Amino acid sequence: MNKFNSFFKSSYGWDFLSKYLVILGLVLTLTRYTITLGLLLMIVATLRSFSKNKSKRYRELLTFENFLIKLKQKLNLYKNKFQQNKTYKILTCPTCSQKLRVPRKKGHITITCKKCGKKFEGKS
Ligand SMILES: [Zn+2]
Repeated sequence: MNKFNSFFKSSYGWDFLSKYLVILGLVLTLTRYTITLGLLLMIVATLRSFSKNKSKRYRELLTFENFLIKLKQKLNLYKNKFQQNKTYKILTCPTCSQKLRVPRKKGHITITCKKCGKKFEGKS
């Protein structure tokens, strides 16, 4: 029993990444095409939790968290772009290729480029 306890104390344990891998693995076992991958992910998660190399597992966790943060930022960027697309239209200046944001649903409008001063017509 003492050996059993010391084994678990010296192992890395369950972190966010391992739990995420198990949940993803369980979802993947729902279809017969991805069942192997799902089982593999759950095995990897279990092996991670028993690992003695704590610093390496911790670095994996940090890498995964950085990846999630970057993914969240990208999703927010697309979300903002999508919301702006509803109210604004992006036109490109024919002279200097400067991108200009104009309000939508104003019909034919004359746009003055802020960069080069060129006036051109566009549909908003
Ligand atoms: Zn211009």
